Amino acid sequence: MNKMRYGKRITRCRVCWAAGHNSVGCPEVDRLAEEWHAINNGTSLVKLRYDHAAAIREQRKRKDREAKKIAKKALSKPRRKSRCSFCSETGHNRRNCTELTKVQTLFAKANIAWKRKFASAIKEAGYGVGALVSLTIDSWGEDRKKKIPAIINSFPLPDMNFMCAYAGSWDFVTNTQLQITTTNGEDTFMNEGTDSFHCMVGDEEPRLFKKLRPWRDDLTPFELLHASYTPLPSEWVESEEDKSISWLLKNNSLSEFKWHSIMKHAETWAALY
Ligand SMILES: [Zn+2]
Ligand SMILES: [Zn+2]
Repeated sequence: MNKMRYGKRITRCRVCWAAGHNSVGCPEVDRLAEEWHAINNGTSLVKLRYDHAAAIREQRKRKDREAKKIAKKALSKPRRKSRCSFCSETGHNRRNCTELTKVQTLFAKANIAWKRKFASAIKEAGYGVGALVSLTIDSWGEDRKKKIPAIINSFPLPDMNFMCAYAGSWDFVTNTQLQITTTNGEDTFMNEGTDSFHCMVGDEEPRLFKKLRPWRDDLTPFELLHASYTPLPSEWVESEEDKSISWLLKNNSLSEFKWHSIMKHAETWAALY
């Protein structure tokens, strides 16, 4: 069990032989080296000992160590130039990246532009909270595509942003669901992207919602039975705060945004701001 004894040995200095420190930390080195010089040029009559020579050797080692430290510092300097994880440029990091600030502003503008268009489309169409609609339910059995009246309950506003219109990479596609209550008592979630929600508001370019299943475009959209002009809260429409947009900016890079056409998507919407 050698390992048990590791670190329990008493350290002894190879220069002055005192216990409790080693040659690197020896406080006697400079004094002994000075004495060595004095003996050599005849100004001291002290007899030359082993510890004088050991002190000279230790002093030389100290100088070498210091020189190596300086050289290493000079060498590692260009290597320490890190790249910004957002824009890949050197000389700054994500926290003080001016490019990130620009993209942040672009996304905020794009998002508010999208929310404004969504809010006005909903209001214009009369599909506000409380609107009575007729829903075409695709079901198996006798009456496929039966119509059920339903009331629009709420919009998932915290999850709705300009990425709802993004139809590119799966990683960034944003699906939200509209909650409605059918008259047979069941709460139903309508996925705006997949069913007919996208057909009922804002079909002109740029589209408010992506088309996920173009082959289902023959699907009857909601039929409006009784309109509600309840506006969406303006605090939501005009707010720059958005959890998922913050995540997007925090965890992805500019090259990813370019690669996945998210920059183009944001620019399209920001132009409408
Ligand atoms: Zn010592
Ligand atoms: Zn940067």
